[in-house]
Amino acid sequence: MSSDKNDLLIVGAGPTGMVLGIELARRGIPYRMIDKRSGPSFTSRSFTLHARTLEMFEQMGISEKFLKDGIRSRGFVFNFKGKDVRPTLDFTALDSPFPYILVYNQNQTESRLREHLDCAYGVRPEWSTELSGLSVADDGCRAELRCKDGRKEVIEPNWVVGCDGVHSFVRSAAGLDFSGANYQGMVMQMMDVAYEGFPGDDDWIHYYMSKDNFLLVTKLPSGDHRVLISDMGEADDPNLNVRDAFQRLVEGHVQGSSLAAPRWATKWEIWRRIASDYRADRIFLAGDAAHVHSPSGGQGMNAGMQDAYNLGWKLALVVQGLAKAELLDSYAPERKPVGEQVIANTDAMHDIIMAHGHGMEDRLALIRAEGWHERTVGGISGLTYNYKDMVQAPVEGAALDGPPPGARAPDAELADGLRLFDLLRHPRLTLVIASEHEDELAAELSSVVAKRYGAIIKPITVSAAPPPAGRHDAKILGANGTFAERYGRNKAGHFHLVRPDGYIAYHGLLRERHRFVQYLGDWLISAEAQS
Ligand SMILES: Cc1cc2nc3c(=O)[nH]c(=O)nc-3n(C[C@H](O)[C@H](O)[C@H](O)COP(=O)(O)OP(=O)(O)OC[C@H]3O[C@@H](n4cnc5c(N)ncnc54)[C@H](O)[C@@H]3O)c2cc1C
Repeated sequence: MSSDKNDLLIVGAGPTGMVLGIELARRGIPYRMIDKRSGPSFTSRSFTLHARTLEMFEQMGISEKFLKDGIRSRGFVFNFKGKDVRPTLDFTALDSPFPYILVYNQNQTESRLREHLDCAYGVRPEWSTELSGLSVADDGCRAELRCKDGRKEVIEPNWVVGCDGVHSFVRSAAGLDFSGANYQGMVMQMMDVAYEGFPGDDDWIHYYMSKDNFLLVTKLPSGDHRVLISDMGEADDPNLNVRDAFQRLVEGHVQGSSLAAPRWATKWEIWRRIASDYRADRIFLAGDAAHVHSPSGGQGMNAGMQDAYNLGWKLALVVQGLAKAELLDSYAPERKPVGEQVIANTDAMHDIIMAHGHGMEDRLALIRAEGWHERTVGGISGLTYNYKDMVQAPVEGAALDGPPPGARAPDAELADGLRLFDLLRHPRLTLVIASEHEDELAAELSSVVAKRYGAIIKPITVSAAPPPAGRHDAKILGANGTFAERYGRNKAGHFHLVRPDGYIAYHGLLRERHRFVQYLGDWLISAEAQS
């Protein structure tokens, strides 16, 4: 038996656990990551990476590998049986550097994340290590691990994060409820397969609906197609082999095309559930352990990784002693409402594509509803989820333009091809000061923040005028830059504090900077207080 008081334990090395692991490792936080599997999974479930996830990967410094190999899909095409309209859900106008859905197999995504964790930080998950007991005491947790060689190990981590999937042991041990419903009577199956004669374009994901079944076809980076079907159980006929069952359903929608034997096929049941809380004392839940829903629109893995991205920087600051533990109180109130919105959005999409038994006209009416396209693209891409209702920031004396606290920080063009997102690729928060004529105030704020919170916040100044001598943090706005348009045209100098997960923490005027410095003191621990 061994004991390590200071450990942070991540349970589960799926996509959620991996993102959390990278976020902690890039801030130098030691932890253990265990998984009961004997090794990585080589089968794929998710095939979609959405714009907000790609923005996150870019900020983590890992987007290039994904962009190189993935297929950039414009969105979804809806084919309703017997109807000659083909509506689309088009992602190409998204306000993001990534206006598309990147088609990429989940096992490949996990593989890229694992490689990065290993190559950049020398961290590997401990496979064949199962969490078999968990309890919380006043000063930490007690976790029982069942190791590969049958040995039992007890550790005492300060924090435990359950990224252990839909049947989460952590969730049960924490006593958190996982209520919801099942989509009764539906069978979902999918395969990766060589598909000859499929007429659809490779840069769209194709949905086919008839009254009682649903078919999805998309090209995969491997050259195979992903074919997903859902019906009331007909394709689950034990007298048919899997390939023939799929072929029969495919022929009902796409004549003259032929499936080969599948390289891989799976069958699963879909649930719609959310944990009663994402936190119980020193235990957190993230990913499928916290929420599961219909795969419509492909959001589950994306939402789980965003949970981890929200939690990672907060845990790191608290463990490093740079922020008060109260910072962790914001995780569940920020992420659970997003989980609820994801469930509502996937349900709405489910009612269009998998409402077996309902006629085509009823489902088309849902697509024709006012605002449907914008609302659905915003949700699936992850770009419209935000924390505006949750982020607490002091009331400002003056009304301000630009994104408010809790909003996603949008990208903006600066000079010389530089983008604001380029300046956010570091593990700290970023104080973006926009100063036209108040250089002294900007310099004073920048220097106070650097002195007190330099390990936590990186200040940068964006200005149309050349930076004063010695201001190495200053960036110049190009004549055609979109910064002022995105971040407000306030005549007075102003600033935004951008969190490491890309959301606005605070927005204020330079002349009211003292209020901001006070606000920082409420939750961060200054360099003076640390020494
Ligand atoms: C068929 C299918 C298609 C899907 N398609 C999409 C899609 O297109 N887009 C999308 O975004 N999402 C999709 N999803 C959802 C996506 O696969 C999940 O949301 C995602 O895998 C969740 O990741 P996770 O890391 O939270 O959990 P998981 O991937 O389930 O990983 C949990 C890990 O925890 C480990 N574990 C469990 N219990 C213990 C324990 N006691 N001790 C140690 N380790 C433990 C498990 O071994 C596992 O490795 C799909 C899901 C399915 C089933």
